[in-house]
Amino acid sequence: MHAEVISIGDELTSGQRLDTNSQWLSERLGELGVRVLYHTTVADDLEANVRVFRQAVERADIIVASGGLGPTADDLTRDALAAVSEQPLEMRSEIVDHVRSLFALLGRDMPERNTVQAMFPRGSRVIPNPHGTAPGIDLEVPRAAGRPARIFALPGVPAELFEMWRQTVESSIAQWIGIRRVIRHRRLKCFGAGESHVEQMLPDLIRRGRDPSVGITVSGAVITLRVTAAGDTPEACFAAMEPTVATIRECLGELVYGEEEEELEDAVLRLLNDQNLSLATIEWGTGGQVADWLNNVTSTVPRFAGGLVVTHSAALENLLSVPGDLIKSAGSCSGKVVEEMAARGRERFGTDLALATSDVPQLTKIDADGPRVFFALASSQGVIVRSTRYAAHPSILRVRTARQALNMVRLALLRGLTVES
Ligand code: AMP
Ligand code: MG
Repeated sequence: MHAEVISIGDELTSGQRLDTNSQWLSERLGELGVRVLYHTTVADDLEANVRVFRQAVERADIIVASGGLGPTADDLTRDALAAVSEQPLEMRSEIVDHVRSLFALLGRDMPERNTVQAMFPRGSRVIPNPHGTAPGIDLEVPRAAGRPARIFALPGVPAELFEMWRQTVESSIAQWIGIRRVIRHRRLKCFGAGESHVEQMLPDLIRRGRDPSVGITVSGAVITLRVTAAGDTPEACFAAMEPTVATIRECLGELVYGEEEEELEDAVLRLLNDQNLSLATIEWGTGGQVADWLNNVTSTVPRFAGGLVVTHSAALENLLSVPGDLIKSAGSCSGKVVEEMAARGRERFGTDLALATSDVPQLTKIDADGPRVFFALASSQGVIVRSTRYAAHPSILRVRTARQALNMVRLALLRGLTVES
């Protein structure tokens, strides 16, 4: 059983947008045990689409396509599928009603051209799209020999595609290939140690053939452990994963900050909420990255009071009255200055806590210990100052430094804000 993933759109073939749907769909197909043999990307061109689908039907048993299902003239997937299956397009009135009701929710009349989204090749099935106007198309195309090929055409919008996969396509494919079991995952997110270090801390969990299986990936210094189990029901999968997740949490302790889509800022805001504390930021080297992340977390009580971004010592002197002499003598990238920034920032903002990040070190300077960047967290108990090595590829330095600063806040909150910890 082999699959082909087809991505459709001028924005992809012209290079304006990266095709991330193929990557995501291929990972999901792999989890079902289906090997993806081909990725094809094609422009919004009817003839090219027909050729691509014909070729896919010949060489793959399962075809998952994305894009080209919208209401505009460049959306040609349904026409291509009608041509490939040699079936006429028919109107499905229940889909017109669904699209009309989505427009009604927005208080708008449905434009006439949207009725095209209710046109389906005869004999095909509708893949519901709960949050968008374009339903998907599920179609079997007979072949000269053997079973027909099965095509699943989904809209290109990633969020809609993810949802439709999870709600409908995944189980349709599982049934089609005869898997009676369902597959579920949990992702644990870690920060504060390297990948190999984390692997060493886990007792033989990341072993091929283990059930539930545990995989490890790293991105921007965040390590994700993905636990996967197969079972008769989703509940059975989650129950089977529970002991593995518990073992991981036990072995890694404070390194685990959250699960699934959670980021460090979510963990920090959760702790601030639990402890009824407010936070402000004074950022030099991280240029407002920490404030931006904290700002993006929705929280019922505003725990993040605001942030100050500086790029020069004059701003610290003028706005926070950090003594210019101190900055000159200790240097902009120093524990002493960052300590002052945090303490004075806390006073000015009137918050329970203030986090400061120092200027970044000059990488040309010869320094036996290696360049370091400094962080400080001021609270009613004093100021905690930390530093970490400033080493990573320049393209991720700022993001990594901002994560380290947030992680410092997280650990301090977990440990009761004691200055010695
Ligand atoms: P479409 O369904 O063709 O109207 O696509 C809607 C939008 O989804 C496009 O404007 C893109 O922003 C996005 N999109 C389409 N195909 C992909 C893809 N393969 N990977 C990531 N995003 C995509
Ligand atoms: Mg398109």
